[in-house]
Amino acid sequence: MKEDKKLRSGVAQTPTYGSDVMINSAPDEFIPQHPTTPDIAYQMVRDETYPQTQPALNLATFVTTYMDEYATKLMNDAINVNFIDETEYPRVAVMSAKCINMLANLWNTPQKDKWKTGAPAIGSSEACMLGGVAAWIRWRKRRQAEGKPFDKPNFVISSAFQVVWEKFAQLWQIEMRTVPITLDKTTLDPEEALKMCDENTICVVPIMGVTWTGLNDDVEALDKALEKFNKKTGFNIPIHIDAASGGFILPFLQPELKWDFRLKWVLSISVSGHKFGLVYPGLGWVIWRDKQYLPEEMNFSVNYLGAEVAQVGLNFSRPAAQILGQYYQFIRLGFEGYKQIQFNSMEVTKYVHGEIAKIPCFKNYSPDVVNPLFVWHMDQEYQKKAKWTLYDLQDKLQQSGWMVPAYTLPAKLEDVIVMRVVARQGFSRDMADMLLSDIRNAVAEFEKLEYPTPTRIAIDKKEHVKERIFNHGSHVTKKHAAAPKEEKKSKAKK
Ligand SMILES: *Cc1c(COP(=O)(O)O)cnc(C)c1O
Repeated sequence: MKEDKKLRSGVAQTPTYGSDVMINSAPDEFIPQHPTTPDIAYQMVRDETYPQTQPALNLATFVTTYMDEYATKLMNDAINVNFIDETEYPRVAVMSAKCINMLANLWNTPQKDKWKTGAPAIGSSEACMLGGVAAWIRWRKRRQAEGKPFDKPNFVISSAFQVVWEKFAQLWQIEMRTVPITLDKTTLDPEEALKMCDENTICVVPIMGVTWTGLNDDVEALDKALEKFNKKTGFNIPIHIDAASGGFILPFLQPELKWDFRLKWVLSISVSGHKFGLVYPGLGWVIWRDKQYLPEEMNFSVNYLGAEVAQVGLNFSRPAAQILGQYYQFIRLGFEGYKQIQFNSMEVTKYVHGEIAKIPCFKNYSPDVVNPLFVWHMDQEYQKKAKWTLYDLQDKLQQSGWMVPAYTLPAKLEDVIVMRVVARQGFSRDMADMLLSDIRNAVAEFEKLEYPTPTRIAIDKKEHVKERIFNHGSHVTKKHAAAPKEEKKSKAKK
């Protein structure tokens, strides 16, 4: 019988999996010549997207994977709303300004104006860029006014920076000076940071909720040290805080900790609305201490849409749905609701942290848990004899659906392989128990190994097993690069 080609390429009555499309490889070079039915297209895209993902078992990402049904409905309703169309949707701009007010006040802004100074962003990456660029422009204008050169800007940050800061340095050609973290000095050392500061330093960037370790830099100590330093030198170096995670944790769980605008030199703070702000991606915020710290050069007022629109972000058009989501969460949860959720995430984290400490082959990187995430590594004595590595554990856990990333720490600590758990809303105590039992079982199996695993052999051969965490760590790729070149003897002797 002659096949009805048209039917199989898709008309309304074609069964989705009876169509031609399903027995051919998916288009990857050219737009297909002909349309197909929406259900076939939908199924293809869906099938390609979801088979490997179980958001609840992904303990690598920081990004929200759960919102309630009303939030989801609100955001879906607004899926076609462009934030920049402020004349069409003027209330969205107002809603964004309300969120900025709430965050500024949450972080104890001294700004007296009714409307505080800040901007929505696609995530912390854009928010960090905006904070950094503002610091750079303020510095440049001051240098210009003083008739001094302004072509060699730098900023100072710990070696445990998130990759956005490397992009900031590259894209705007601003030298990044990094203070190494070590096993003893696990966060940014203020004195070491100051040693790297000079008249060309646009800002120091402490991190609240360091992506690599979960710890917080000591902003109060840095602020104090800068106060003395600035008095002595007149450099007036300010602070931008990358509070991607901590910005939504500390105000609720450690309100007494002084890390925010209560400190003199803190001029801007950025946060991810889509991390512990509890909104689906992508949303970030940056807040300035006062309007004078947002250079007017960055504030593009746009009026061709029929209104005077203050425009700070790198993007022009952007989705409005996330702003509705953030405002909804603020109203729905209130301060107390956020506190309850963050408290629970912390409790589960502390529980897992405590249980990991009881497993003899492991050691926590820090005895403190200050954000809902922590890292651990192998006990160093154990590691000498172990026939396996944390990469093997990562693979093993993945077989049960868990995504628990293993990676090496930054410069100077690149021999230390750690494993990280981020406990987001949705990771319950019961799930933590399942995870711990899978970890214990995996370790018991590894201990029966007769021969070392390939990753263990690679490490013994000093082959560099390099791990890179892209963005927030939800994508971890292993690069098994060649062994690093031996340092030349003559050089080493010098
Ligand atoms: C996640 C993170 C970023 C990047 O934020 P996005 O919201 O993913 O763009 C920057 N800095 C820190 C410390 C982070 O944890």
